[in-house]
Amino acid sequence: MVRPSFSVEFFPPKDEAGEERLWLSLERIVQLNPDFASVTYGANGSTRSRTIRLTQEITRRSAIPTVAHLTCVGSTEVELLEILQQYKNAGITKVLALRGDPEGGPGNPWREIPGGFNHADQLVQLARSLGFEVGVAAFPDGHPNSNGDLEQDLRVLLKKESLGASFATTQFFFSAERYFSLVEKLKHHGSDMPIIPGILPITNARQLQRMAILGGTEIPKRVLGDVEKIAEDGEAIRDYGIEFASKLSAELLNGGAPGLHFYTMNSSYSTEQIIKNLELGQ
Ligand code: FAD
Repeated sequence: MVRPSFSVEFFPPKDEAGEERLWLSLERIVQLNPDFASVTYGANGSTRSRTIRLTQEITRRSAIPTVAHLTCVGSTEVELLEILQQYKNAGITKVLALRGDPEGGPGNPWREIPGGFNHADQLVQLARSLGFEVGVAAFPDGHPNSNGDLEQDLRVLLKKESLGASFATTQFFFSAERYFSLVEKLKHHGSDMPIIPGILPITNARQLQRMAILGGTEIPKRVLGDVEKIAEDGEAIRDYGIEFASKLSAELLNGGAPGLHFYTMNSSYSTEQIIKNLELGQ
């Protein structure tokens, strides 16, 4: 049987201590043989050079295939072309093409800039024109700007696929049903794009709430209640997160998900435990 894929996401750390932690996490995760590692792109291009450097360094240290993220925020088409060229020169062949959140967060209105893009589909087209393999974002709970209109998100994904996107990674979510519903609807429209579920192992109550608001993820009442009860006990919350994510991941894989993408927050521990629980690390 083919092993389901598993991948990990890192963000460019702000300082040397953060970078040290990241390399330690990478060292441990490499031993589990992930299929790829992706590196995020900071708001407003704030991490552009760090995203490139980190992506290259991951390849140098681990030989794991990499995916570099790119967003449209604050860049003109010409600038985006330049950045993609820099990615290419750095040996990066796969990108996750995103719109990015408006400055100040997803609750704020999108600020159009002259000569820039307003949606990720335009970036998909640009990256494909340069020969990149392109992934996109998917939202089982709906994109926060779509105001619950899941059909709009569906049309957007289908359009991105028709423009050449070859996989999608989802925002994190807590209901397997929402993921399967999205996948079913896509299939119904003839899509065969793999939709890789994004898994966030819960490690911190406040961070969970902040990230859920940013990403449009609905936290089930039961999870909120469980987490609130142990909010001050770091170890208990981490163990809860591992158990919850292991069960969710098993349900997703048993239901046919092609793999799992872990939001590691640059720390390997929870991801390692979940992979071990699922007996995926090989
Ligand atoms: P879009 O596809 O442009 O969608 C945004 C909204 O516009 C949606 O409501 C959609 O339905 C609508 N829409 C899309 N296309 C059209 C169209 N042609 N016409 C009309 N309406 C349209 N952010 C970062 O800053 N850096 C990162 O590295 C990063 N990595 C991420 C990784 C993953 C896996 C995910 C799920 C998200 C990530 N994000 C990142 C967050 C992401 O940039 C935001 O969620 C952003 O608000 C939406 O990006 P998108 O690519 O889905 O945008």
